[in-house]
Amino acid sequence: MKIVFATSNLNKAAEIQQMLPAGLEVITLKDIDINEDIPETSLTIEGNAKQKADYITEHYNFNCFADDTGLEINALNGEPGVYSARYAGNQRSDSDNMDKVLEKLASTSDRSARFKTVIALTIDKQQYMFEGIVNGSIRHAKTGTNGFGYDPIFEPENCGKTFAEMSMNEKNQYSHRSRAFHKMITFLHNHFQSDK
Ligand code: IMP
Repeated sequence: MKIVFATSNLNKAAEIQQMLPAGLEVITLKDIDINEDIPETSLTIEGNAKQKADYITEHYNFNCFADDTGLEINALNGEPGVYSARYAGNQRSDSDNMDKVLEKLASTSDRSARFKTVIALTIDKQQYMFEGIVNGSIRHAKTGTNGFGYDPIFEPENCGKTFAEMSMNEKNQYSHRSRAFHKMITFLHNHFQSDK
């Protein structure tokens, strides 16, 4: 069976294909020639994941899943949250986004934060939600060059280094996204096992 991953990010798709049960193939929006921007206008991370999955099901009638991620900083009342990608503006610059966070937290001692990923999975018109969270803190300066997004300023708890100082494999042991994906994979294994 084919399942659409509502993303244009080929790295994310390759990563997840390796974890899937036999007989289930992940295809991306590019594979089915969908080049339009999928709307992401919800005010919550959950809402955006759901909106993207619903869009594919309603317009193209595919089984599919979609993910959405945000960084939630306690001292900023959960910002940047659902606005993580364009926190400092529509240029979607990782560097500008981090600078904005560091500036806003400059005189703040509470550096606690978390990354949250939500996945919405729709199979045969039924929808299932999965969440992955990693708690941590915001550094006072950018450290490390790996990864993307806010990785250079986010240190997962009990790690002593930022995501940007980790290899991809190491980051995947802690990351919000891999936690959410693993929950979905376990569900898919059980779901397709019980179909046999
Ligand atoms: P998306 O929903 O996966 O596109 O993520 C939205 C935004 O959150 C990205 O543009 C990044 O700024 C940030 N983000 C998501 N995942 C990560 C991560 O693993 N590390 C650092 N930043 C991330």
